[in-house]
Amino acid sequence: MKFYSTNKQSEAVSFREAVIKSLPTDKGLYFPEEVPELDYLFLETLDYYSLPEIGMEVLRQFTKEDIPEQKLNEILHEALDFEIPVKEVEKNIHTLELFHGPTYAFKDVGARFLARCLGYFNETENKEVTILVATSGDTGGAVASGFHNVPGVNVVILYPSGKVSDLQEKQLTTLGGNITALEVEGDFDACQAMVKQAFLDADINSKLNLSSANSINIARWLPQSIYFFEAYKQLKDAKKLVVAVPSGNYGNITAGMLAKKMGLDIHRFIAASNANDTVPRYLKDGNYEVKPTVPTLSNAMDVSDPSNHPRMLELHEQNFKDIIKHTQGFTLNDQQTLDVMKSCYASNQYILDPHGAIGYQALKEKLEKKETGVFLETAHYSKFLSTVEQALDQKMDLPDFVSDLMTKEKVATKIGNSYDEFKAFLLG
Ligand SMILES: *Cc1c(COP(=O)(O)O)cnc(C)c1O
Repeated sequence: MKFYSTNKQSEAVSFREAVIKSLPTDKGLYFPEEVPELDYLFLETLDYYSLPEIGMEVLRQFTKEDIPEQKLNEILHEALDFEIPVKEVEKNIHTLELFHGPTYAFKDVGARFLARCLGYFNETENKEVTILVATSGDTGGAVASGFHNVPGVNVVILYPSGKVSDLQEKQLTTLGGNITALEVEGDFDACQAMVKQAFLDADINSKLNLSSANSINIARWLPQSIYFFEAYKQLKDAKKLVVAVPSGNYGNITAGMLAKKMGLDIHRFIAASNANDTVPRYLKDGNYEVKPTVPTLSNAMDVSDPSNHPRMLELHEQNFKDIIKHTQGFTLNDQQTLDVMKSCYASNQYILDPHGAIGYQALKEKLEKKETGVFLETAHYSKFLSTVEQALDQKMDLPDFVSDLMTKEKVATKIGNSYDEFKAFLLG
């Protein structure tokens, strides 16, 4: 299968090239030339498939010319070696717990898959690859963990100073080896802009073999559709499944839309955002207007110009009416988020993280009769412990896995919000 650019200027490339290049030169996003419809029988018998087996069915047609089946199978078994359970939080409202991977957030799925694909492609390349990643919080940790000690791959992570949680920062800055952390005086959009510019910089590209691990990379994005099938499988008796997705860069929700296009019977989606509500506003009137990013408690969603918006359009043949047929927006501010975390804990003893909380509340308010709701719990609450303590008004014990990490020493290089400084660092 070939992948074309959503800007339609660059030429279509193979899966392998799309993964290695990450971003087409025309600044679009790679998108598959065809969205395969999955076999009816597979969809009807999902419960007989394990998570990696679902992955095989979902991904094989995208990758078949570039990764032999057996290798894909091996990659999926390694990448998806943790569970993704659905739990009932209250009547009709379920959580898809995406935080059982090594860095406790959904980004482990895509990052681990991408790392193994690149490792495989790199076996025959004999060149070092430099991965550039901008992170608003969770991407960096997942990528650092996914790529740590992968031979021939160096990782440079840019994160906004003071805008990630302590635990997130530890996950970015304590691995060492082939992982370098840059602490940027600026917000996530600034980090993302620098990474994008580097990819288009001829100087840098003549010296370094760049690749990206952001959610824009097709190998991060495609495997995220797997767990929408997994959710459906576990809720197999549910009618009219509504999926609420706490969204920032809109990789997750568009992966769900891809699953739907492949034949998964998802009734509709709710794009749940914090105060950075470009897409919920867009879904109201079709007007995509970017405002300055504001910091919130759900910091992994502090994105005002989500990179995956073109994929949302592409999935619906650029037809706004078609998008809003299946997609609704929802927004919650910080105070409301805290209130929701508190009330959900009081009534269900379920601890929400500030991102999942917005998805949960979207279902509380928007679910209609005869619908079943599932929201994506995108990270474990301990990644946002101080917010959880504030919401629940009590001290919480750190789980062991967290306290070990917190004792490690942070190693990061500070840089200003200037592209030249970043460039000098990369070439230096
Ligand atoms: C990255 C992230 C999000 C946003 O996901 P997108 O795919 O960028 O929309 C939401 N919650 C958490 C915890 C995240 O790490």
